[in-house]
Amino acid sequence: MCLFCKIVKGEIPSNKVLENDEFLAFHDINPKAPIHILIIPKKHVENFQEVDGETMAKMTPFIQEVAKELELDENGYRLITNNGRDGGQEVMHLHFHLLGGARLKWPHLADSQPKKFI
Ligand code: AMP
Repeated sequence: MCLFCKIVKGEIPSNKVLENDEFLAFHDINPKAPIHILIIPKKHVENFQEVDGETMAKMTPFIQEVAKELELDENGYRLITNNGRDGGQEVMHLHFHLLGGARLKWPHLADSQPKKFI
């Protein structure tokens, strides 16, 4: 069973923010911003590339509710999902990072030059 499935089951503790029957939001153990929340579906889905549209449609208002709960909805926040190897995904259970609580930076994310498409 994967790490986040164990968190869903309560086998590994988490600092919960919000949950319903299908989704769970909890604090990241290694925060990269003043507020850093992970939002996951309770059912196991590997990553964004594998998730179905119905789950995403239901997940959207849940994520918006988490942002409101933390009073991030007015000043803004960043939502990230790392997908697969090149995306830097370490835990293979779909999760969105919700980051906020400060004006976030937007650094270069890779050393290599942008690919030319035109
Ligand atoms: P990613 O690299 O996108 O797969 O992100 C995985 C995230 O899970 C990282 O930001 C970790 O800090 C976080 N993480 C790992 N283990 C735990 C845990 N037990 N509780 C909360 N967050 C965790």
